[in-house]
Amino acid sequence: MSDTIAALATGRTAAAIGIVRISGDGAVPAAAAVFSPRNGRPLEQAENHKMILGSLRSRGGMVIDQALAVVSRGPGSYTGEDCVEFHCHGSPVVLAECLEALFERGVRQARAGEFTQRAFLNGRMDLVQAEAVADLMEAETAEAAANAAGQLAGAVSGRVNGVYETLLDMAAHVQAVVDYPDEELVPVEVEKMEEQLDHSSLVLRRLLQSGRRGRILRYGIPCVLLGRPNTGKSSLLNAILGYDRAIVTPFAGTTRDTVVERVKLGGILLRLADTAGIRESEDPVERLGVERTRSAAREAELALLVLEGSEPLAKDDWEAMDQAAAAKYSVAVINKSDLPAKLEKGEIQRRFTRVCEVSALTGEGLGQLEDIVRQLFADRTPCETGEILTNARQGEAVSRALKSLESALKALRGGLTPDTVLMDVEEGLAALGELTGRTVQSDMVDRIFERFCVGK
Ligand code: GDP
Ligand code: ZN
Repeated sequence: MSDTIAALATGRTAAAIGIVRISGDGAVPAAAAVFSPRNGRPLEQAENHKMILGSLRSRGGMVIDQALAVVSRGPGSYTGEDCVEFHCHGSPVVLAECLEALFERGVRQARAGEFTQRAFLNGRMDLVQAEAVADLMEAETAEAAANAAGQLAGAVSGRVNGVYETLLDMAAHVQAVVDYPDEELVPVEVEKMEEQLDHSSLVLRRLLQSGRRGRILRYGIPCVLLGRPNTGKSSLLNAILGYDRAIVTPFAGTTRDTVVERVKLGGILLRLADTAGIRESEDPVERLGVERTRSAAREAELALLVLEGSEPLAKDDWEAMDQAAAAKYSVAVINKSDLPAKLEKGEIQRRFTRVCEVSALTGEGLGQLEDIVRQLFADRTPCETGEILTNARQGEAVSRALKSLESALKALRGGLTPDTVLMDVEEGLAALGELTGRTVQSDMVDRIFERFCVGK
């Protein structure tokens, strides 16, 4: 018997409707105690998944709303348990009263992610799918949502389960031959084992490679703003963001700490870091920022080099240009196009294939910058199948599994017998089991569901 939980499933501010979700063995009786269907039939007799109109009562028995109730009995519900949803008018007061009335009937407030956690524990979805629920909620682009939806539908789970089954059969067979040497069992064919391990490794390697794309989908393409102080990096970031996030001042060297923002430019999600100026400095705080800039540039996929259009090239600009070259792609952004031009554009065009002129102040030229970014990353099309790993936990488990399989494969190819690689295969199984949640520890499960919001 599980206890019965309830939570507000929709937002906390007033809205057209608000949904209270209840799950557990006592869900239907508790709901029936606070809700009177207009058709006169008790809620206990309601058909599954049908909306029933009725009145909702507060703790004191006052009618507080005309609402709709939906009963979904387990095991076919979201959580696998008996569930009821009240679709109320979205007044925070009504929703709070509704919950209070339920709590009085022995229902308790659900913890963050508890509904989805129950769905996982009741076998309604595996761990990758449960994480996809959270990803879907957090998705910031249509592409990220499409991938999460694919994961939720089981795209990654299907791949992983295929490998899991192969390894499980292999391990069982090897184990049986070891345990019952006298039985006339089919001998283990080393060649076939090698082939299966090889194929499984390939599947896992592909999944692992997808992880980088997954990170980009979720967090954006790593991108840095480079340039000597006062060229207008913070202003450009703000212009892109459309609001004041970074401190903009007329003094050189004020952006000491790195500011990271996720922005959409030309439909592409960027994780844009505004860095301290490139200028060599004696000030230790500023020096630290300079170091950080260098490493950020090396790790970035895209560098936006901001140059001062109203001044000739300065010594520090050359340093910044070198930094920009360290990123995979770079764009020279000549800023302050609203002021008289003094920069030698020819020199910039010789060094950069992508150059645009903008004014962070007026917004002029930002469209051109958008076009450049869109063209650069046009191939980052969404993965419709959802076969992408999206978090570090998933990536870590797959890479551990892959290592075990590669070790087994190497041993077999080195002439060792199948029984000697049994442990490797079992380790691979354990790692994949953790990924989908077959063999995961319960404290780990708790940690995973902590990132969910209450009501999910
Ligand atoms: P950062 O040090 O590179 O981050 O530069 P800031 O964004 O702090 O800008 C330095 C100064 O240049 C500030 O006084 C801004 O108002 C000014 N500025 C930035 N962009 C433009 C622009 O497009 N046109 C003009 N006229 N001034 C700008
Ligand atoms: Zn700045």
